[in-house]
Amino acid sequence: MTKQILLSTPHMGELEQKFVKEAFDTNWIAPVGPHVDAFEQEFCQAVGAKHAAAVSSGTAALHLALELTGIQRGDEVFCSSLTFIASASPITYLGAKPVFIDSDRTTWNMNPDLLRETLEKRAKIGKLPKAVLIVHLYGQSADIDPILAACSEYEVPLVEDAAESLGATYKGKSPGIFGKVGIFSFNGNKIITTSGGGMLVSDDENIVKRARFLATQARDNAPHYQHSVVGYNYRLSNVLAGIGRGQLRVLEDRVNARRHNFETYQQAIGKLPGIEFMPEASFGRATRWLTCLTIDPAAFGADREQVRLELGKQLIEARPVWKPLHLQPVFAECESIGGAISEELFDRGLCLPSGSNLMPEELQRVIDAIDRIHRR
Ligand SMILES: *Cc1c(COP(=O)(O)O)cnc(C)c1O
Repeated sequence: MTKQILLSTPHMGELEQKFVKEAFDTNWIAPVGPHVDAFEQEFCQAVGAKHAAAVSSGTAALHLALELTGIQRGDEVFCSSLTFIASASPITYLGAKPVFIDSDRTTWNMNPDLLRETLEKRAKIGKLPKAVLIVHLYGQSADIDPILAACSEYEVPLVEDAAESLGATYKGKSPGIFGKVGIFSFNGNKIITTSGGGMLVSDDENIVKRARFLATQARDNAPHYQHSVVGYNYRLSNVLAGIGRGQLRVLEDRVNARRHNFETYQQAIGKLPGIEFMPEASFGRATRWLTCLTIDPAAFGADREQVRLELGKQLIEARPVWKPLHLQPVFAECESIGGAISEELFDRGLCLPSGSNLMPEELQRVIDAIDRIHRR
């Protein structure tokens, strides 16, 4: 029987079970404990952040990040359009409104020129957003410097969604540590996983302390249960932090494996007419969390959806590139600045199976299948 090849699945290393056993042996099964503290410290070292708070998901981390940036009901937040819904949902949890900004072609991430132009126009009418939220998509950093420069000029804080880009670099540093607050995700499909989890990072210790406070029901310092603000139950469990510590130690291997997938695909099918792989920007290393390509239907002989369905029939899971958020029914009322590039990337973009645990014969099966679709 042919085995299904999935897009991206968990890939455990050798130390996770030891750390989890340690949590059991010491009965630290709560959303607090030595693994949580150690995971935060080790994560800081891995990405070069000053402070970090481990939480239950990337979405939770972003919710806290935006709240701690001061986002309130009625505010506007500029947000990349080409991304997963979880980049923007936390904006709406706070009663604020996203304004979507289109991508550029070199990074597929927020276009810095378009951002600057829009900030300039908004400054003139006294309607600047309360934050800019950039996303580092599919393992590739956005072009952070010009984005930061524009944000500084207009004094708008920058928040970074690096959920998909742990292990990437921007001019030698990790994306996620440049803005006021950054977040990462350890969901089951991400480059490393705790089955579910997230991390909030910041150079501002007060923000991270406040994040931990809000993530544990915002308990005031009192022997009884006393609360002056409303918090959340968002802390990461000590058991899962144990998994995270093991995973962090193999991060480099996972990046290399995913980059190897990309290179294998590119060498094998990169020359087929109409196929173009997601570019790697010159400013750093993309992890190739997912291998993404675009298909020009006229040149290739089949469109993205035909290719995806045909792969599906052969038990190969491929997915369209994220549907831009400005096209999502739930955001129909939201403003969108540009959009043609992200629409085209969605129209033509396909993500191939990209797990760091893919076998060479599985990669070959995907390659052969795409080759056959083209020759038909
Ligand atoms: C996965 C993801 C998130 C959310 O992370 P969870 O841990 O699944 O909540 C946010 N933004 C992007 C871009 C993601 O890919």
